[in-house]
Amino acid sequence: MIKNLVKRFAIIALITLFSLSGLIPAVQAASSKPAATAAYGTRDLSLGSQGSAVTQLQKDLASLGFYSNSIDGSFGPKTHAAVVSFQKSQGLKTDGVVGPITKRALSEVLDLALGSQGSAVTQLQKDLASLGFYSSSIDGSFGPKTHAAVVSFQKSRGLKTDGVVGPVTRAALNKALTGSSKATRKTVTIAAGTIYATPMYINDSGVPGPVVMIVGGVHGNEPAGYTAAGKVKDWNIKKGKLIVLPQANKKAVERKTRTYNGDLNRQFPQSSKESCDSTLAKAIYAAVKNYEVDWLMDMHEGYNYTKISDSVGQSLIYYPSTPANTMANAIVDKLNSGISTSYKKFTLYRYPVKGSLARASAQFLGVHAFIFETCDNPSLSVRVNYHLKAADTLLSRLGML
Ligand SMILES: [Zn+2]
Repeated sequence: MIKNLVKRFAIIALITLFSLSGLIPAVQAASSKPAATAAYGTRDLSLGSQGSAVTQLQKDLASLGFYSNSIDGSFGPKTHAAVVSFQKSQGLKTDGVVGPITKRALSEVLDLALGSQGSAVTQLQKDLASLGFYSSSIDGSFGPKTHAAVVSFQKSRGLKTDGVVGPVTRAALNKALTGSSKATRKTVTIAAGTIYATPMYINDSGVPGPVVMIVGGVHGNEPAGYTAAGKVKDWNIKKGKLIVLPQANKKAVERKTRTYNGDLNRQFPQSSKESCDSTLAKAIYAAVKNYEVDWLMDMHEGYNYTKISDSVGQSLIYYPSTPANTMANAIVDKLNSGISTSYKKFTLYRYPVKGSLARASAQFLGVHAFIFETCDNPSLSVRVNYHLKAADTLLSRLGML
């Protein structure tokens, strides 16, 4: 209680300071249009009412998109109709009378600025927090931190940075918040029109974020990788894009052979001047480039545990970058925490082999890329789960799940 009072006093003091100095235009704007305190007087307004309260009401209804006639301070049938529409939109009794309840509803949907209080501010703070602009308490009190968050949001959208949430800022907020409803899924064909044609699944959340590409089936006799990738393509994501190419070398997968017309994982550029050695590699490499992939996970299988043979089985091989290093350690730690036998644990290696998709993407396209390998000893379902857990860790740490 005392804390609240102090907080409230601090805000009032701040507003007074700003108003006195006139330094902050936001407060000027806010004071010219009382934020969340609609000035409709104490009397009910209805058909036949006249005066400045009606003028304010008409202006506010117009700014909310309910009224498009003249602002004449005269409550006629058109103002009545606008009030009814507004009441309907708020689930209120549609009597066309602006009494205390309708006044409060109007105040809640009108401009919010420094000093505003109430549930509309609570919602605003939640919205700003979910968009990553606000991290202070959700207290329904529009203080300096909320003001700063609104200004940051406005700046990010190229709007006037007045810290006032009016119709333009509100529309921009709504647009940003409904970004997720613009999520799309589509399937494109890699190497279309050739014998290598294979589907690639683009899951676009509609929200800005990392672009992650997951590849399986570069080698056709490594089923855990392409089986897991086939599942990851159906995952839902919160932000960014998830691009999945489950059967990179479809011909080899169909034949259950490691290669088909050469080893696909040696056909990517080995120097910045080199191009790909095959049509299929070229098409995959072009996709990595065109979709501006940030992270690439290539799912493979080795033939034995690393520590009891010269195979790289049960390992993660990454191309070094600070983010890739952190991520690689996190993934391996996560997997190893569930493996008690030490020789079965995953090992970290650096530098995917030259000519591989991961190596070329990292070295020449700046992608954080790694090859993930499971050992073919355990059952397929165990191996598939390792791949899924690794992909889950990657996407979770990027905030996409
Ligand atoms: Zn492989």
